[in-house]
Amino acid sequence: GAKENGRGRAAFFEAEMDAALRRRRALEGDLRRAMAQGDLHMVYQAQVDEGRHVVGLEALVRWTHPAHGNIPPVIFVPLAEECGLIGELGEYILGRVFADTAQWRHCPVAINISALQLRQTDFMASITRQVALHAADPANYEIEITETVLLGDDPVTRDNIAVLKQEGFTIALDDFGTGYSSLSSLQRFAIDKIKIDRLFVRNIQSDDPETRRLVHAVIQLGQSLGLEVIAEGVETETQMAQLLTAGCRRFQGYLFGMPMPADALPHMRDVFPSIPPVTG
Ligand code: C2E
Ligand code: MG
Ligand code: MG
Ligand code: MG
Repeated sequence: GAKENGRGRAAFFEAEMDAALRRRRALEGDLRRAMAQGDLHMVYQAQVDEGRHVVGLEALVRWTHPAHGNIPPVIFVPLAEECGLIGELGEYILGRVFADTAQWRHCPVAINISALQLRQTDFMASITRQVALHAADPANYEIEITETVLLGDDPVTRDNIAVLKQEGFTIALDDFGTGYSSLSSLQRFAIDKIKIDRLFVRNIQSDDPETRRLVHAVIQLGQSLGLEVIAEGVETETQMAQLLTAGCRRFQGYLFGMPMPADALPHMRDVFPSIPPVTG
């Protein structure tokens, strides 16, 4: 009867939830192990100027799982946030980036920091530890935060950003235009740079003139506030041309280069002459 059906369904969902929970727990354990064994690594994607010279790099974390293959950061970064591992993962990433790049000069490296990591009271201790360990110069690094960081005006976050700036780090707002940041929050948090989200970059090719005008307006707005503006996710020459017309002078995307391991970067010097030599 209906009751039995209902019971059957409930049991089915319970079994499904158990399985999902078990998979999560297993993945969590795997992530802990991967960090302990140094199995996560960083790749770097070029940021270029209008002449397509490399003017910076963004560090992106990669995890090749022994059984499941590549697990994207949009899966395991939130997982780390949920299971209380984000502080550890964040410090691991900082350590890897500084180790890879501390010898590079005149090529700023951007590091993504999770909103949750930035809200922790021991964040500055963690980054200071890694800076000291690798003798990194904060002036060569940019901290990428997302608009959710600015929401709610968390005092710990605000302190951390202020101290980061005092130490010499640059602050970039990632995925700009997708969230809810107000102009006043850009100024309150003293943001140095905005990264126009690739959704807008795609929209710059829109047939709808209103949509195109909006993208132009966002770029001009950033510039009139004295911010550096970079477009991310640039994939086509048409997008690049339209962005140039809109006044954008910094670009990142597959059109200019895929993210790649640090030791592969020097081999790209013919393509990207301004890539610094890696020593040691
Ligand atoms: P994000 O910081 O906005 O990074 C840009 C993402 O777009 C990267 O994906 C990059 O590989 C990809 N991408 C670059 N150029 C293009 C393009 O031309 N077209 C398209 N379709 N995509 C492009 P990835 O590495 O999978 O990272 C996804 C997100 O995961 C990042 O978005 C960032 O929010 C997060 N993430 C990545 N690495 C880290 C990390 O080290 N720490 C933290 N906290 N988050 C990270
Ligand atoms: Mg980013
Ligand atoms: Mg982004
Ligand atoms: Mg994005």
